[in-house]
Amino acid sequence: LANRAFHPEDSIIDVSGVKVGGDNLALIAGPCSVESLNQVMKIAKAAKTSGANLLRGGAFKPRTSPYSFQGLGLDGLDILYEAKQETGLPIVSELMSTEYLDVFNEKVDLIQIGARNMQNFDLLRQLGQIDRPILLKRGLNATYEEWIMSAEYILSSGNKNVILCERGIRTFETYTRNTLDLQSIPVLKKKTHLPVIVDPSHAGGKWWLVDPMAKAAIAAGADGLMIEVHNDPENALCDGVQSLKPGKYNELLQQIKQIAAVVGKT
Ligand code: PEP
Ligand code: MN
Repeated sequence: LANRAFHPEDSIIDVSGVKVGGDNLALIAGPCSVESLNQVMKIAKAAKTSGANLLRGGAFKPRTSPYSFQGLGLDGLDILYEAKQETGLPIVSELMSTEYLDVFNEKVDLIQIGARNMQNFDLLRQLGQIDRPILLKRGLNATYEEWIMSAEYILSSGNKNVILCERGIRTFETYTRNTLDLQSIPVLKKKTHLPVIVDPSHAGGKWWLVDPMAKAAIAAGADGLMIEVHNDPENALCDGVQSLKPGKYNELLQQIKQIAAVVGKT
């Protein structure tokens, strides 16, 4: 169902009024984790002023260590919801288990499935039973075919609103958090009709790699970017080292818009 051969035109996914795919540019920004209402509100307002059109924030976090901050849970979703009321930005947040599917379906505009759950087939099948758009991140070591098959689980269960997100893969290199596979953009867009966006924050794992990789991704045809932005990265509860401050994010977006115009996206 994802195959471009049977669906030549680009799929355009409507995320609560924000169109993703085709000539549209999706600009998702926000903190790795929701920490407080004040934090999310500050970041959301700044990101919106810079031109972001979707707000991200993790309420349930898939942390490597069980002793790390696990997120605010349902309270985090309520904070995002308040920021949405204030700024009008639809919200993107990660769902880790089917347990919270109903509340996410009600409160979250774009449900993120993280790299670690890309092959949680039971979760994928259940996402197929709702209409909410799904942001399916590439697994840590997933091939293109495996990633597409995970999208097929959602599509074949009835939900046609799937957006793919390249976020870097595991390689032998340890200097960067992951290796950003820019080739996945043209390959996935050739093989499928689904929108493909890029998350340079989790790919590089360093804030100063975000700017060049974001630009490269848009030049390579990505339908958008998901970037971690934090007002106080030094004290962030998660992923501060890869987060941009609002000022840097603003500078980057102005340049991104110029590159996007060259490749025909607005
Ligand atoms: C995230 O977006 O915060 C995240 C945990 O990403 P990934 O699943 O790509 O590691
Ligand atoms: Mn993160």
